Amino acid sequence: MALLKLKDIGKIYVSEGNIAVGIRGINLSFDKGEFVAITGKSGSGKSTLLNIISGMDSYEEGELYVENNPTSHYIQSDWEEYRKEYISFIFQDYNIIDSFTVLQNVELALMNIKNKKERRARALELIDRVGLTDRIHHKGSQLSGGQKQRTVIARALAKDSPIILADEPTGNLDSKTSVEIIKLLKEVAENKLLIVVTHNFEQVEDYATREIRIYDGAIEFDHKLRADNKESVTENKQEIKEAEKNKKNKEFVNDFKDGLKLGGAIYTSKPKLTVFISLLLLMGTLGLFFVTSSFNVSYSSFGDPTMFTPMDGRVIVTKDDGSLITDEELGLLASEYGVKDYIRYDLPLDYGSAFLVLDDIYTNATLCYNKDFGSDIIGRYPERDNEIFLYAPISLRNYFGKAGIINNKFELFSYEYDVVGVKYFYDNNLPFQILLTKDAYFSANYMKYITEYFNYADVLVESTTGYENISHRVSFYQVVVSPALQGDSIYLSSSELSKYDLSNPDIKITGEISSNYYAASKNYTFSYTFDNSNIVDSEILAQSAEDNFIYISVDVANKMVENAFKDNYVQFSLFFENDKAAAEAAEKLSNSGYIAVLSTDTYEQVSFELILLKIFNIITLCVWFGAVIFIAFFINLCCHRAMDAFKADMAIMRSMGISAKVIRIGMYSRMFISIIPAFVLFPVIAITIFTVPSLNALFKYLYWWHYLLIVLGMLIMTARVAHKQIDRLFKESVKKSLRGGDAK
Ligand code: ADP
Ligand code: MG
Repeated sequence: MALLKLKDIGKIYVSEGNIAVGIRGINLSFDKGEFVAITGKSGSGKSTLLNIISGMDSYEEGELYVENNPTSHYIQSDWEEYRKEYISFIFQDYNIIDSFTVLQNVELALMNIKNKKERRARALELIDRVGLTDRIHHKGSQLSGGQKQRTVIARALAKDSPIILADEPTGNLDSKTSVEIIKLLKEVAENKLLIVVTHNFEQVEDYATREIRIYDGAIEFDHKLRADNKESVTENKQEIKEAEKNKKNKEFVNDFKDGLKLGGAIYTSKPKLTVFISLLLLMGTLGLFFVTSSFNVSYSSFGDPTMFTPMDGRVIVTKDDGSLITDEELGLLASEYGVKDYIRYDLPLDYGSAFLVLDDIYTNATLCYNKDFGSDIIGRYPERDNEIFLYAPISLRNYFGKAGIINNKFELFSYEYDVVGVKYFYDNNLPFQILLTKDAYFSANYMKYITEYFNYADVLVESTTGYENISHRVSFYQVVVSPALQGDSIYLSSSELSKYDLSNPDIKITGEISSNYYAASKNYTFSYTFDNSNIVDSEILAQSAEDNFIYISVDVANKMVENAFKDNYVQFSLFFENDKAAAEAAEKLSNSGYIAVLSTDTYEQVSFELILLKIFNIITLCVWFGAVIFIAFFINLCCHRAMDAFKADMAIMRSMGISAKVIRIGMYSRMFISIIPAFVLFPVIAITIFTVPSLNALFKYLYWWHYLLIVLGMLIMTARVAHKQIDRLFKESVKKSLRGGDAK
């Protein structure tokens, strides 16, 4: 059985309307142990013949038999398999991977050895055999022609294929080196079929066992020169068959592993290209980050369709007939429904945000109470009315200083609170929240009514005793609700008033505070009259109070609100354990003469806005995908040229019989390794942006799922780019991609 048999093989080249005969009517048969020299003039068809034998080029006529099996029906993957199993190819201009070291080049051909140590040992042995031990760590580009060709031979040996084909292997070498290479080839090709194309027969004369001369695409002669170069080896065919079978079973896993290995080698072999691609991917990731982040801004500037502040378990109730509810009625209702809490004048709940100025940053904080931010907090939750807990974006940590904000004062509506706890979050979309006790929460909100709009207080100081006749009017231009005051107390801070001894019972004080507030389409006038009995001294306020400020207690504020609301504010809130209980109660209330809505329902109740929001979301997502594709396009463009450097390397790998699948996996894994720095740097940059307040103002921090989206987007994009580039590189036939495929 002949190893190879060519029957009437013919190949015609058609290009740009010209037809050239490559070879015609070739009948040949080859066996192991032969050293065949193919000679002939340039253009006679030697390379064509070799390319057909190697499966790198197709033939149109005749049939090529491999161990008696016809090959004319082979598709690309069959040829790949054939090359992998049978062929080692040696070219005139070496075709080693310049960016790989000698060792890597050889190991590439030893991929079938799974054990790393074994592979390394075998590679070193082969390198030793071709006399390159002192060059193992030199890159291909640093080798001389002869050394490169030795590397190629070591690689061919590594593959241990039965056929070694060499197309003018010494064409670029001086005559001394040429002889050495031919000798080496002869030595290593014992018991293999070695076919060497040469136009210099003298070089091979001493070693070749057969000479075939080609003329004008046909065989001119075919001489036997000497006995075959055969060793008496007893191969255990059965064993090899078994090994083959095992190999097949593990093929997929192995392809994958080989691919990864290859990817790693490619990744490290071209550091500049690697850095370039990594930078590109990082830029892409950041681009996507900014795109996502800016969409996020436009998304949130659209606003929430909020009506009432959503609070778990809160039901907003009003009577069906629009009439006022009495305190008595409300008390009954509360006990009937078993509520946890109720608030008659609940307006403050829905206007509960505070505008804070921290140094030069303007922050809007949401006030809240009864909230749980988890147990992993710094410090503790507030217990007293002058204590607050901050749920703050991480960027504010800079303002709070390294030592932290705990035990510091925090000013809110002209009153200083003690910060007792804090929790930082990494999400710019979350609101900065200030947690207070319930009383402090309301005092802070009343403060909004009372202080945000025009408010004033007039105080009349009179003496009733005759000996000192005083009648003096003092105006206060700021009213502040202070948790430091208890009961119906009021604290007056005024340098003008300090002239008088207010503890003297003869001095009579009368005053009125009033303030206007426009809320829920109505104008409310808050007012409160007071006298001596309300006036107290406060040590706390004495330290911090500003001149011409009037400080009132939460109770007083409450009464002011009550005074304003009692005649026409019809709404109230009931609080239940949770929304489930609240929903049940709301339904029952709706059937008993009330209008009752869940606060969390009203949050999404504005359906028109909701539809707009949905449409907006869809558009945003589309634009986002557009951005991903645009970035992919950009990266693809940048990779295009860079990847061309790979064309030759890939062709070499393919000519070595490394399957397209392994190369693909290699290229993919190389791209994915390249993206790792981007994925590591990305959060670092994102966090940096977030912690630098001036930058933070520009970019919205993202939700965790935005990160996921970006990472996913980048993965898809990388796969896409890798796929496109590989496809482009694979389109060309191996022969065409190879630099020296048809040397003239
Ligand atoms: P050799 O290797 O003996 O110098 P080749 O096998 O390279 O010769 O070429 C044989 C003939 O086929 C020549 O006439 C050459 O011009 C032609 N030929 C080879 N490759 C191509 C090709 N890719 N396209 C068109 N003609 C080709
Ligand atoms: Mg040639």
